[in-house]
Amino acid sequence: MLRHAPAGYNAQTIQWRSVMGELVFLCPRTAREIETGINTDRGSIARTRRRTIYLDCPHCQETHSFKVSQGWIDNYARSVPALAETA
Ligand SMILES: [Zn+2]
Repeated sequence: MLRHAPAGYNAQTIQWRSVMGELVFLCPRTAREIETGINTDRGSIARTRRRTIYLDCPHCQETHSFKVSQGWIDNYARSVPALAETA
């Protein structure tokens, strides 16, 4: 029986599933999340993990380069519904 994760749920405690979510990186200067607007899933990240992405950072106004493998999927605290099993 699955329940919705409470707000602030730690991503590391969630089992990885093939859930779509937004690819997010961490600004190395401000340690804040940079949203990419790219919807992806873990499988896509695995396939493109060595690709480099350049982002204009909204926090420090610099352009950062990230490997895809440095990002993560932001789907745990947003409105994306989990694969809840309704009995
Ligand atoms: Zn930045």
